[in-house]
Amino acid sequence: MRKDCENIIGNKYNKLTVLSFSHYHKQPNGANKEYYVCLCDCGKQKIVRKDMLIYGGVKSCGCLVSEKSKENNKKHGLYKSRIYQIYYGMLQRCYNTKNIKYDVYGGRSISVCDNWKNDFKNFYVWASNNGYNENLTLDRIDNDGNYCPENCRWTSKAVQSANRRPKSNSYGVCYCKKIKRYRSRICLNNKTVFNKYYKTLEDALKAREKFIIENNLPNGYAGL
Ligand SMILES: [Zn+2]
Repeated sequence: MRKDCENIIGNKYNKLTVLSFSHYHKQPNGANKEYYVCLCDCGKQKIVRKDMLIYGGVKSCGCLVSEKSKENNKKHGLYKSRIYQIYYGMLQRCYNTKNIKYDVYGGRSISVCDNWKNDFKNFYVWASNNGYNENLTLDRIDNDGNYCPENCRWTSKAVQSANRRPKSNSYGVCYCKKIKRYRSRICLNNKTVFNKYYKTLEDALKAREKFIIENNLPNGYAGL
């Protein structure tokens, strides 16, 4: 990668986190413009021209301004799936400096191989060919290594948590009578990292599960 391309990778502009350089495109006036692969907060990817990112001409994948993203989401039909949540979480941990686990992933220079980073389909194919199922989680064989086919495997949560189980985690859902809402709360090392209220128990449990998957959290204990 050219040196002048590196400076905005990892930056976040509005809803878009810059993942990698994509390509150059010659403008009618002869100028070469840089394009970058970006990850939107909604989970979709979009290739955006650098200056549009910096000046805010493009703020999201399109989900901010229209319902178009809903149609696009149907393209591979997997955006709401567990495996896409795993993929999205992996990218967030490595490239979104505001992610709660960025420090121990992107902050330690752990990255995602280009083949996976630039196209979910490549990750999906690898997962399907390497024993993915709904009960398994993504695990790096070498904890200091990157997310790539050579260093990844699908393991049960029990295996992972046996390897590294922090002491004071809790993932709890409770009902708050006062406000008639279900509260979903996740603590890591005694620090609250997720705390939201929902109308139904189902929504609270779903939100908790999504957060656990996206952030690749180890097993805790669920206290009701
Ligand atoms: Zn979006």
